[in-house]
Amino acid sequence: MFFIEVILPLSLAKTFTYRVSEAEFHFIKKGMRVAVPFGKNKIYTALVLDIHENAPTLYDAKEIHQILDEKPIATETQIKHWLWVANYYMCGIGDVYRGAFPTGLLLESETIVSHKPEVIVNDSELSDDEFLIYEALQHQSSLKVQEIASILNRKNILPILQKLIARDIIVLEEEIKETYKPKLVRYVKLHAQYETDRGLQELLEVLKRDKQKEIVLAYFQISASEKKPITEKKLVEVSGCTSAVIKTLVKNEIFEEYYLQHDRVSFNGEKSEKELQLSEAQQNAFTAIKESFSEKEVCLLHGVTSSGKTEIYIKLIEEYLQTGRQVLYLLPEIALTTQLVSRLRLHFGDKVAVFHSKYSNNERVEVWKQTLENSEKAQIVIGARSALFLPFNDLGLLIVDEEHEQTFKQTDPAPRYHARDAAIVLANFHDAKVLLGSATPSIETYFNAQNEKYGLVTLAERYKNVRMPEVVLVDLKDKHFRKRMTGHFSDLLVEEIAEALSLGEQVILFQNRRGYSPIIECLTCGHVPHCQQCDVSLTYHKHKNQLRCHYCGYSIAKPTNCHSCSSIDLTTKGFGTEQIEQELISLFPKAKTARMDQDTTRGKYGFEKIIDTFKNREIDILVGTQMLAKGLDFDNVSLVGIMNADNMLHHPDFRAFERSFQMMTQVAGRAGRSEKQGKVVIQTYNPNHNTIQQVTNHNYMGMYKEQLYDRQIYKYPPYFRIIKLTLKHKDFDKLKEGSMWLYQVLSQNLGMPVLGPEEPAISRIRNEYIRTILIKIPQNLHLGNTKKTIQKMLNSFEAVAQYRAIKVVINVDFY
Ligand code: ADP
Ligand code: ZN
Ligand code: ZN
Repeated sequence: MFFIEVILPLSLAKTFTYRVSEAEFHFIKKGMRVAVPFGKNKIYTALVLDIHENAPTLYDAKEIHQILDEKPIATETQIKHWLWVANYYMCGIGDVYRGAFPTGLLLESETIVSHKPEVIVNDSELSDDEFLIYEALQHQSSLKVQEIASILNRKNILPILQKLIARDIIVLEEEIKETYKPKLVRYVKLHAQYETDRGLQELLEVLKRDKQKEIVLAYFQISASEKKPITEKKLVEVSGCTSAVIKTLVKNEIFEEYYLQHDRVSFNGEKSEKELQLSEAQQNAFTAIKESFSEKEVCLLHGVTSSGKTEIYIKLIEEYLQTGRQVLYLLPEIALTTQLVSRLRLHFGDKVAVFHSKYSNNERVEVWKQTLENSEKAQIVIGARSALFLPFNDLGLLIVDEEHEQTFKQTDPAPRYHARDAAIVLANFHDAKVLLGSATPSIETYFNAQNEKYGLVTLAERYKNVRMPEVVLVDLKDKHFRKRMTGHFSDLLVEEIAEALSLGEQVILFQNRRGYSPIIECLTCGHVPHCQQCDVSLTYHKHKNQLRCHYCGYSIAKPTNCHSCSSIDLTTKGFGTEQIEQELISLFPKAKTARMDQDTTRGKYGFEKIIDTFKNREIDILVGTQMLAKGLDFDNVSLVGIMNADNMLHHPDFRAFERSFQMMTQVAGRAGRSEKQGKVVIQTYNPNHNTIQQVTNHNYMGMYKEQLYDRQIYKYPPYFRIIKLTLKHKDFDKLKEGSMWLYQVLSQNLGMPVLGPEEPAISRIRNEYIRTILIKIPQNLHLGNTKKTIQKMLNSFEAVAQYRAIKVVINVDFY
């Protein structure tokens, strides 16, 4: 008898055995997909892990339905990496498989497919079965795979569906069909021959028609008052003439038209150079990175904002391309903009493939196949964290840009992996090199660099030697006292904004709204109560009228007076971007403002639309959340305002100071990226807070040393690894009892700090109560053994009948 061992795309740690015929046995290879029955009437796409002749002992192996591939669609190295991920992050291999594959390659009985209304198909191009499916979908706009199977009265329909999907005749229901092309904005400028001082005079003599004269006058009027490029739209608005008149002037070579779209289009008509010239500092960094690679697998490029890290990546990629090996360029989803992609395509043409969760299924399948075949078209893959799971053959270089970004860590669903860390392991399997880049490296990474586990290359100057922005602190306490506030704006910030606007420069205002329940703050002195044991601020729980620590459970009743100055002027803190935008409109009614946060960027390309409009200078002031900090490059922003630095600092999280530093430094880094030095205004109640001072002085090392010290004292990474267990159940008492049971078993058996069971600030979601347990594993203990013990405890927990229904989510290296 012949068998195969497969993974199912379900949250299961086990592999399953299926029976195959002898012919199939000889045909099947590891990494091929097969359609298999599972449970009652369900069909899944499974992946072959092994081929063997050992019948399972516990159950009768079912037969597979059919083989779905002619050759392997996943590589052995890839599967090895998945197994590592499953093992390290304590999840099922099925979770990794499900997360890795584009859904179009994972059809199952519950998958819903639809027809594409715009597609008209010639009947004669379809086989009988295909025609039946096509016709059924004309009557019912969507159908489950299972339903189609019964219409056709056969089990083996996945390959037929797959072909129809590949031919774009049907689509997966889950797909959103929005597409986006960067908007081209039409600008006009005077033809070069009139660009002298005498231009206006001469022109008015040349022009005959009044309408034309009006437009030229309007043009001069606009350019006298603002420095920015003039859109055709604006010219029409101001002159009151039609765009037809402008067209005539363009035809007569009085005006010229031009478009702005890409990143590096400059306004004086110089084209972006294809041949990249590194500055001396960049060149030195580049050489140092290569030297480091000769000894070490991983190198950290610590380059200040706007130092031109991307250019160094490009140079490095160029070299790796010559070796014929593949390159993976990872960055946070939100930083993966069309601008960056076109910047890379400018250099590497069609060798750049993009893997993005927002791309269509077929596009993702295509990148999958190109990567698998080692195609030239995917020699460079640029993508968000999940691109890590593509079937690379021969990776030579991995770049993790903005490596400090917490979005590299997946929270839900499993696998809860950290893409940076998983990338380093993957590189190891491929014998490849990893470059981590950031202006504000994570404490963990910098620690590894300091300990010479990673190479370290520092780039301390901005490109073209542009000065780092000047940071000005505004003491909110003082401003309130002296009544110099208008809403949330200090007089200084208002003045600075007014000045920037008058010069035609753009402004970014940052307000971080993260955090659910607001904190309590003293209006008189700005004091925020902290936990004594954990060095995090306490969170206000309105319901219980308590202040609580989310890490150790410490709690006090909500104070009526400030602990620091006894004032009774306590307030719950929290204002968001929306309020700021409202205030702006009344402060600067003429300025064009826009807001960028989760509410305004919902649509598929919502984020990019705002970015593009801002880049095209149609927005004067952009208000936003931390989305603004994601490595965006704007060349006309001279002022960045941070509305309130304090709420970040008081986030109940051991990474709060590190993150505040990163966030503020990154947002500040958007200012003054071209010649003129930018300015950053930080409004705060704590101008003397160490973190604020470190941001002001661009003092990364100060922040690093201080945080590292705290991490050691309070037992956090990089000295301790953290595993967070989240328990959920609908029954409050059962959960309370169960989590206490588990906590006790863990703390008795592990011999290391176990904290909890803590009731988190959001202690009930969708009617499920939540408790968390935090395990702190000292760096010198064997991680694998500890995990085995934890797994054993979890298994015994599951064996207790009354706790079985409690869900446990495991988050290794919880971020
Ligand atoms: P970082 O990612 O380090 O913040 P970027 O790579 O975005 O910086 O570079 C900042 C700006 O300087 C970009 O507009 C980039 O195009 C420009 N720049 C950097 N280095 C060069 C170079 N060697 N040649 C031309 N332009 C450069
Ligand atoms: Zn006080
Ligand atoms: Zn605490």
